[in-house]
Amino acid sequence: MKIIVINCGSSSIKYQLFDMTKNEVIAKGLVDKIGLHGSYIKHERNDGDKVRLEGEIVDHQIGIEYMLGILISKKRGSIKSFDEIDAVGHRVVHGGEKFHNSALIDDNVLAGIKECVDLAPLHNPPNLKGIYAMQSLLPNVPQVATFDTAFHQTMPDYSYMYAIPYSLYTKYGIRRYGFHGSSHRFVSHRAAKMLNTYLKKLKLITCHLGNGASITAINNGGSMDTSMGLTPVEGLIMGTRTGDLDLGVLTYIMTKEEIGVQAANTLINKHSGMLGITGISSDMREIEEAAFEDNNERASLGLQRYHYRIKKYIGAYMAAMGGADAIVFTGGIGENSPDSREEICKGLEFAGIEFDEEKNNITRGKEAIISKDSSRVKLMVIPTNEELVIAEDTNKII
Ligand code: ADP
Repeated sequence: MKIIVINCGSSSIKYQLFDMTKNEVIAKGLVDKIGLHGSYIKHERNDGDKVRLEGEIVDHQIGIEYMLGILISKKRGSIKSFDEIDAVGHRVVHGGEKFHNSALIDDNVLAGIKECVDLAPLHNPPNLKGIYAMQSLLPNVPQVATFDTAFHQTMPDYSYMYAIPYSLYTKYGIRRYGFHGSSHRFVSHRAAKMLNTYLKKLKLITCHLGNGASITAINNGGSMDTSMGLTPVEGLIMGTRTGDLDLGVLTYIMTKEEIGVQAANTLINKHSGMLGITGISSDMREIEEAAFEDNNERASLGLQRYHYRIKKYIGAYMAAMGGADAIVFTGGIGENSPDSREEICKGLEFAGIEFDEEKNNITRGKEAIISKDSSRVKLMVIPTNEELVIAEDTNKII
């Protein structure tokens, strides 16, 4: 059973070819700068063979053709013919209120994804392009969509409603949806396995800390609350996004700087967050370096602000669920930054969280429990694997 997992962005396609029988990734790669100058494909086989090819990749269809060409090529390929591909799994960002689970793509599902374009105008259109390209290139292969929002569809209404006129919810579907669903779902299942219990019995707080970041309260096996909202701007401070912001700030800036909606959108999505506060970078490694090695004050301030907001969310979610059995760290920062984990967990002993400095310091990019054995709340590091979630869902559905 071989499954291709595709993640199409506006100018990129990330892909992985899974062999589900052997439970391994046979090949993976990235098509980048689609439609731009300098487009290329980077392909890697699991035996270490790597190639980077430049070419004119004008759209997603051509990008996927390149990728499929490499997958069956004699020299670099991993399969002999397309008949070996049993299914394609697509990451789709927004499934609105329609999709609570992954779905086999048919006309109905396609229409549903199109209906959500208004909610994710930057993400769902490239996701659709990937689906159309695969349908035309591999017309007999079943395709499955896995939605970033689906896992959060268990949120109760009091957690997803905004305090705006109710008619705006009924008219436009304006509510909190949440994202990173596949990641929160993956690490929650792994956490239950590591703790040798059922997910349904656990109260979990999962922190996905990457360039984008979100935190989720998982109760009874499902998402009860999550920090991202209608869009991925809400919640935690991110690489370049504000996270929670007094709405008055935005209207004030728009008035003062005389900027319109588009510029305001760019400001809160691309120029804010850690980049905005520090003025150095959106990349946590560079910010930590500036703070610790150069004693850069704004870098230190940015880090304090970043950790403080996560700490507050942990407190809020413990209150929402009536406690927590474990807090899970994942994403590039959650998996690899012991400093961040320490700053977030410090001072939470009152809530039964006993952090183990030694265990934390030796944990990078691997599964581990980093709390003291006596800690009532377990602290865990679990590398995420969103592609595997998509491959497994696709496998199950077909
Ligand atoms: P994305 O959301 O794009 O998938 P990632 O999950 O890969 O991003 O996370 C990227 C972030 O992880 C960057 O801010 C990067 O600096 C940070 N990161 C990666 N490795 C480390 C590390 N060793 N220490 C601190 N931060 C790290």
